Amino acid sequence: MTPDLLKTETFDLVVIGAGSAGLAAASAAADAGVERILILEKEDFPGGILLQCVHNGFGLHRYEQELTGPEYAERALSELRRKRIDLRCGAMVLSITPDKEVRYSGEKYGYRAARAKSVVCATGADERTRGAIRIPGDRPAGVMTAGLAQHYMNLDGYTVGRRVFILGSGDIGLIMARRVTLEGGKVLGVAELMPYSNGLARNIAQCLNDFDIPLYLSHTVREIRGKKRLEQIVLSQVDENFAFVPGTDKTFDVDTLLLSVGLIPSNRLLTELGVRLHPKTGGPVVDETLQTSIPGIFSCGNSLHVHDLADFVSMEGENAGRCAALYIQEKLGAESGDSPVVRTEPGAGIGYLLPSVLHAERAEEFLLKFRVRKPYRDVALLLKLNGRLMKKIKKPYLLPAEMENLRLKKEELPEPSGTLTLEVADE
Ligand SMILES: Cc1cc2nc3c(=O)[nH]c(=O)nc-3n(C[C@H](O)[C@H](O)[C@H](O)COP(=O)(O)OP(=O)(O)OC[C@H]3O[C@@H](n4cnc5c(N)ncnc54)[C@H](O)[C@@H]3O)c2cc1C
Repeated sequence: MTPDLLKTETFDLVVIGAGSAGLAAASAAADAGVERILILEKEDFPGGILLQCVHNGFGLHRYEQELTGPEYAERALSELRRKRIDLRCGAMVLSITPDKEVRYSGEKYGYRAARAKSVVCATGADERTRGAIRIPGDRPAGVMTAGLAQHYMNLDGYTVGRRVFILGSGDIGLIMARRVTLEGGKVLGVAELMPYSNGLARNIAQCLNDFDIPLYLSHTVREIRGKKRLEQIVLSQVDENFAFVPGTDKTFDVDTLLLSVGLIPSNRLLTELGVRLHPKTGGPVVDETLQTSIPGIFSCGNSLHVHDLADFVSMEGENAGRCAALYIQEKLGAESGDSPVVRTEPGAGIGYLLPSVLHAERAEEFLLKFRVRKPYRDVALLLKLNGRLMKKIKKPYLLPAEMENLRLKKEELPEPSGTLTLEVADE
């Protein structure tokens, strides 16, 4: 179809993705006075990953209640239904043009375009697969990502296996260990490459310890065996350089291996548009308004950086929606490049630090988000501007599995430009 024949509609804001982030962004933009809002969601129902998370543990921060994923999604949707927002499901976004034309297709819509003043990209994250971690061996059925297994079990009603091993102790892996057990499967163990778990402490207690499922730290799967269906895995201990320790091989007879080896922000649309990506997070580079390197294009949720809690995703989505509203109303202030900026950089012990750019003249307060590289106890966080110490914060513990927030007031910044670093140091 030539662009001239393309059915094109005009909106103020187009939000891509109807997960926690996208729903919150659209809702907050409507509250801030944006009138013509369109949400495009490729699946047939809104809610994103929440729909397959039938366990509880959602909403404690946002609603002060413990909800399941679908209940949390319903809360967000009921807020949305009270507002005039056009939500289109079964609408897969294929591309965004530099002048903010969002092209999408779907059975109900054909191939269409939505022209917008601003776009919020909230496309979630993808799971890392066997190919990404290169486990040698056969290629039988029965090896799949933990999130896919969760979808099969919780949304499609299939059992994924009877004797299951899980590689990776991230939250999805831990939650699936419990889920498989509750459905009558036997989970022989969870292995983790690192000497510590990558999941939340509450999930280790509630999903492994309560069911006597062993956790093998500093272990990985070194071989997969099986002709048609998985028959065996070989597990080995690794040393501090992740090399196999000779003589530590253990063989497990299993029919299923679930991989919970990380999520990667899903940003194909922004990459093709030429948005600058962050080298550590896999999401785009953003400033304190969550605006990317292309003015008017905002990012939030797991497509910006991988979150552990949906509540924080929703709060970030609201921020993106409010800032997109200010952009549409031409109240956001100077665009990147026009005013002095502070650039942030992770220092010793910090995995990543967001946002990458702060406009000291534009905001009264900044919310910094970061993760540490490894677990720490009784340490201090040092915030430095251009090498000079600005702030020291004592921390009883820091864990890579838990995203940390740090609020910084404008008046705490001694200068409006330079490099802000955050590092972990002895107390
Ligand atoms: C297994 C698991 C367990 C979890 N447990 C908890 C918990 O106990 N408590 C808690 O608080 N949090 C939990 N979380 C975290 C939380 O649920 C997520 O971080 C959050 O919901 C992610 O929201 P999101 O909107 O960024 O992404 P998603 O929910 O992934 O939403 C992204 C949406 O974008 C859509 N999309 C993507 N590309 C396109 C496109 N091209 N066109 C149109 N639509 C598109 C997708 O279909 C999807 O609906 C869990 C997460 C997982 C995976």
